[in-house]
Amino acid sequence: MAVISQERNYCRKQGSDGIILDTASRKLEVFLFMGKIMIEQEYSRIAPSTWCISEFNLVNVFVAEGTDRTAVIDTGCGYGNIRSVAERLSGKPISVLLTHKHPDHAGGIYHFKDCPIYMNKEDDGLLFNGMDADNSFRKMYAETRCPDRCPGKEKEVLAMIPDHEPDCSFDFISVDDGSIIDLGDRVLECIHTPGHSEGSVCYIDRTNRILFSGDTVNKSIILMRQEGNSTVLIGKYHRTLEKIWAHESEFDSLAIGHDGTMIDKDIIKDYLTITKGLLDGILIGRYEEKGFRKGDVLRYGKAEMWYQCDA
Ligand SMILES: [Zn+2]
Repeated sequence: MAVISQERNYCRKQGSDGIILDTASRKLEVFLFMGKIMIEQEYSRIAPSTWCISEFNLVNVFVAEGTDRTAVIDTGCGYGNIRSVAERLSGKPISVLLTHKHPDHAGGIYHFKDCPIYMNKEDDGLLFNGMDADNSFRKMYAETRCPDRCPGKEKEVLAMIPDHEPDCSFDFISVDDGSIIDLGDRVLECIHTPGHSEGSVCYIDRTNRILFSGDTVNKSIILMRQEGNSTVLIGKYHRTLEKIWAHESEFDSLAIGHDGTMIDKDIIKDYLTITKGLLDGILIGRYEEKGFRKGDVLRYGKAEMWYQCDA
C-alpha cells in the first residue's frame, strides 16, 4: 500500500506542476497476496492524460482523464481489480464507456456499479458464443487465450478470477451517433459501428486525435459466421468502415482492444479493400484454424478479417 500511495502523490505532484506524465508506465509485476500468487495489470501512457491498462495482454482498458471526469473505456474480463489501477492513474470521478458488451470487454463491470455506464442499447442482452460475463467465461478465456497472448502466465491469470461470482448486471445510458461524453477540457464523441456486434461503438478523442476502436477495428477483426454464409453482415461492416473513414481527418491513430495498443488509421483502408472485395466477389479467403480462432479468413495489407468466424 505504501508503494501505491507514493506513486499517487508522485503523479499528482507532477500534474500540478503542469508537467506531462510521460513516465507513468509500469510493467507486469508478480506478487504474493495472502499466500496467493497475484499479478498486476501493466499500464502505459499513450497520450497526455491517457493510458492503456493491459489486462495481462488479453484485452485493453483505456483511461482518459479530463479536468472534471475520467473515462474508463472497457473494463476487461474482470481478473483482479482493474479499477484500482485506473484510480491510481487518475483520482477523478469515473464514467465507464463500453465499446461493446462482449464479456472480455464488459467482464470487469462489477467494479464500477456506482459509476455512470455508457453503452449502445443494441448490445443489451448480448452473449459471446453463448457465454455471459461470469467466472466460467473468465476460466475459458484464460485457458484458451493465455497460451497465445500471455504465455507462461496462465496459472497466475486463473488465480485472479474472483473467489465468488460477481454480479455483472448493470444499468446503462444508451449512446448512439453523436453522443458526447464530456470530461471537462476534452470530449469523447460516439460513433455507432455495428458489425463485430450490433451495438459496437467507437469514440473519437479529437483533442489527442485518437479513435478508441474496441473490436470494431484492430489487427484481427471477427464477424461471426452467418447462416448460408450470407454477406449481409459484411455489407453492414463495410458501411461501418466507410462511416469511420468519413471522420479520418479528425484522428491519426486507433486505440485498439487487443494485440497491441495503438495502430495507424490506414489499416481501415485495408479493411475496406477486404470488405469491398468480398462483396464484389473479387476477393475470397479460405478456412483456417489458428490458435483459438477458426473460420474463413482473408488478409490484405496489415488487416486480417475472420469474416465467417466459427470461434
Ligand atoms: Zn468483441
